[in-house]
Amino acid sequence: MKYLSTRGQKNTVSNSEAISAGLAKDGGLYTPESFPAITSDTINNLINEPYYKRASYIMGLYMDDFNADELTSYTKQAYNSDNHNSFNHKDIAPLYFIDDTTAFLELWHGPTCAFKDMALQILPYLLTASLKKTGETKKACILVATSGDTGKAALEGFCDIPDTKIIVFYPKDGVSEVQKLQMTSQEGSNVNVTAVDGNFDDTQTYVKAIFSDKELSDELKKMKYFLSSANSINWGRLVPQIAYYVSAYCDLVKKGKIKNGQKINFCVPTGNFGNILAGYYAEKMGLPINKLICASNKNDVLTQFLNTGVYNKNRPFYLTSSPSMDILVSSNLERLLFELSDKNGKAVSNYMAQLSSSGTYTVPDDMKNELNRVFASGQCDEKDTMSTIKTTFNESNYLIDTHTSVAYKVLNDYRKSTGDKTPAVVISTASPFKFCESVLDALSKPYNKTGAELLESLSNATGVEIPAPLAELKGKNERFNKSVTKNNMKSTVIDFIRND
Ligand SMILES: *Cc1c(COP(=O)(O)O)cnc(C)c1O
Repeated sequence: MKYLSTRGQKNTVSNSEAISAGLAKDGGLYTPESFPAITSDTINNLINEPYYKRASYIMGLYMDDFNADELTSYTKQAYNSDNHNSFNHKDIAPLYFIDDTTAFLELWHGPTCAFKDMALQILPYLLTASLKKTGETKKACILVATSGDTGKAALEGFCDIPDTKIIVFYPKDGVSEVQKLQMTSQEGSNVNVTAVDGNFDDTQTYVKAIFSDKELSDELKKMKYFLSSANSINWGRLVPQIAYYVSAYCDLVKKGKIKNGQKINFCVPTGNFGNILAGYYAEKMGLPINKLICASNKNDVLTQFLNTGVYNKNRPFYLTSSPSMDILVSSNLERLLFELSDKNGKAVSNYMAQLSSSGTYTVPDDMKNELNRVFASGQCDEKDTMSTIKTTFNESNYLIDTHTSVAYKVLNDYRKSTGDKTPAVVISTASPFKFCESVLDALSKPYNKTGAELLESLSNATGVEIPAPLAELKGKNERFNKSVTKNNMKSTVIDFIRND
């Protein structure tokens, strides 16, 4: 399998080269040249397998420079419910049925209680093996800017992985109490966490500047390090996500909810478009998907695009209770444009140039037709996010987080407006305990606590148990309490690496 850059660069690369590089030299994202087939036989073969075997099979279809034993060894370590620091559900990515035709795919039983674990638990294995295969002799320092979930998931994934270091910057006042506690108490000898004075956009902008700082990269080279990214533009983060779409389908068939071959819908709470793009790849492989429903919060740039074919980031930016979806530029959309345009790198380059010069671009009708074939979309405001959490809990005794609530509301709206009764899976991306303040507000429960005590407030109010990795936060010490201004970020990186 060869990988192409979305911006049309001539030379193709292998799977491990794509993972090692992160971004292509022309600024594009690596995408597979073709989509291997999934048939009803594939589903039959995987149906009685545990999650790690389903994942290694699906990933193996793309990662042909890894052999089956290698991949199975990685997935077995990454998706393991016996290991205290891995997943705390035996099915790894279980379905919860709220009624006969609606299930939640719970992707938050990993160590950080959000869906980023599905990819970031395995990425360190894929990255370190890819670096070996491509002959890289320098060590990787993973540099992350986070609005909360990615940082912690990357820290857990790379914690104590040999020959790597990881440094995470987060906006000082831009993450939830629980997210902050999770990061500042991170264990491991190769990690650093630093707060930045500023909001997430600032933090991300400064981190991007560090990535393109030639002087810094030369200095790191002398110390035998290079900077690498764990964010969702890396192919190594995308490919593990295809697996849970297939796994969910297997479980629906296994539980007798659908017949093998029958089409289903997925509704996905979307930010950077990584999660739902993996669903699109699964559809292109032949997984029986009727519609992928893209759910946005008040920042509905994606919904607008899917409805009209016009992407326009010139709009107000809202801070919402589903912060991981607060976004104006969805980086993985570039990979969708590449497929919609029949892998036309020149066209994609043009759209991206228009996006950076004027903030907007429009796709032609043939691309829009393909969008309409697969995608539906909807938007959910703050009031509905709150009321959906409340009614879901009161009527079905099922507690969902703010991001999942956006998706569930959008699915219900979609069903009402279209009459489409296709069985549907809502992708549930975070434990409600990661966003205690918002969920308690939604349930109209008062609280005046902070930190780990908030977890108890939510548990007491609902009778739902605190997930083990969050319950453990209570006894943990804060290891990282430094905050810096943007001018000190570069020296923080250098000091951290020098300090070996
Ligand atoms: C990252 C994240 C999302 C958005 O996922 P994308 O792949 O960026 O679309 C949704 N919900 C939660 C809880 C997240 O952490």
